[in-house]
Amino acid sequence: MSQPISPVSGQQGSDARSHAASISGLEAENQALRARLAYLVEQLERNHDIMGRHQAFDLEIVGASTFPELIGTIFRTLPVVSGLDGVTLSLVDEGDDILVVMEKLGVDFSAFPQMLFVHHTGELGFMAAAEGAPPLPLLGPFDAAVHGPRFPASEVALRSVALVPLLRNKRLIGSLNLASSDAARFTPALGTDFIEHMASIIAICLENVISNEMLKYIGLTDALTGVYNRRYIDRRLLEEIARARRQQYCIACMYIDIDHFKRVNDTHGHQGGDEVLREVAARIRHELRRSDALGRFGGEEFVVLLIDADLASATLVAERIRASIAGAPFELSGAAHASVSVSIGVASLPSQSDQLPIEMVAQQLVAHADQALYQAKAGGRNLVVSASA
Ligand code: GH3
Ligand code: MG
Ligand code: MG
Repeated sequence: MSQPISPVSGQQGSDARSHAASISGLEAENQALRARLAYLVEQLERNHDIMGRHQAFDLEIVGASTFPELIGTIFRTLPVVSGLDGVTLSLVDEGDDILVVMEKLGVDFSAFPQMLFVHHTGELGFMAAAEGAPPLPLLGPFDAAVHGPRFPASEVALRSVALVPLLRNKRLIGSLNLASSDAARFTPALGTDFIEHMASIIAICLENVISNEMLKYIGLTDALTGVYNRRYIDRRLLEEIARARRQQYCIACMYIDIDHFKRVNDTHGHQGGDEVLREVAARIRHELRRSDALGRFGGEEFVVLLIDADLASATLVAERIRASIAGAPFELSGAAHASVSVSIGVASLPSQSDQLPIEMVAQQLVAHADQALYQAKAGGRNLVVSASA
């Protein structure tokens, strides 16, 4: 039975006091509960806010369609949404394939010092909890000797780190490296569900954009020589003409054809011919600048676009290419040697072309180089002829 609540009087004084005490106790409890509730609401709002920012981050990285867009977003956004002082990625790239393809596609890695490549999964430092089990995240104090190389561009003193495996279908493809100036941020006792979830989304996005970029690369390059294909050069030419018009610089084009290539095939077989094609491509490339574009136009013909080069300087480069190919015999497999030469036609963008459609200008530029090449063949081969603009 519950005690009825009665007014405070007479012998009931001590009861009343204890009653008052219990009321103030209730009030205190009530206050404590309110404070706790306010704290929980604040936590909830904070977590909601963090989740919202992370969801926005997830959406942003899922939407990235190129490699630089993806890693740029990760390095720019993740430190902000997660309040971190260091975010880097280590990616396993055994034969430097990813690096080479990305550079071919024009990715400038000097803009991303946080992007690290390793050749073997062993370099990532993870250990499986049990035989065959996926590796677990490593959390704990920052150790400059061990973790320093993972955070090469850090501007603040780092105190704790989380190295989170990037896994795709149980395969280790890299590591998401997180660091904080707060020693208590990452401790071995911290639950890792959240960062593992984040790493799994990043791993999927990385694999997707890398596959996309690889496909793009395959579609734009020549499988035999590794240089660009005609489709790429045709497209790039339009872009370069438009840019050259805007920025007022000159571009030039070379049409290169191997002399008597049929004879090379006849003497050394198709295989030998292929080796010559590869070596010719390599010797051409060796004489070019990074900004120039070399493409195989089919058969034994190559086209080079020279950016910011006039007819005279392009002709000098062409002469260097001709000399480099004719100057040293080609060593083929099976101790065979082949003497190879090329004829080159050079043309530059006509100065009065600004009013013409870009497609027409592009076509004319290549046609002029081709005509000059024809003259080089007629002139006896192993020659450079420049079209008079
Ligand atoms: P010219 O000095 O007039 O250019 O003579 P050429 O023999 O080089 O000229 P032509 O264009 O008649 O011959 C090109 C040859 O290139 C014919 C073709 O069999 C060969 N060829 C085309 N594509 C390939 C290839 O991918 N590999 C090899 N090995 N040969 C190829
Ligand atoms: Mg030919
Ligand atoms: Mg030829």
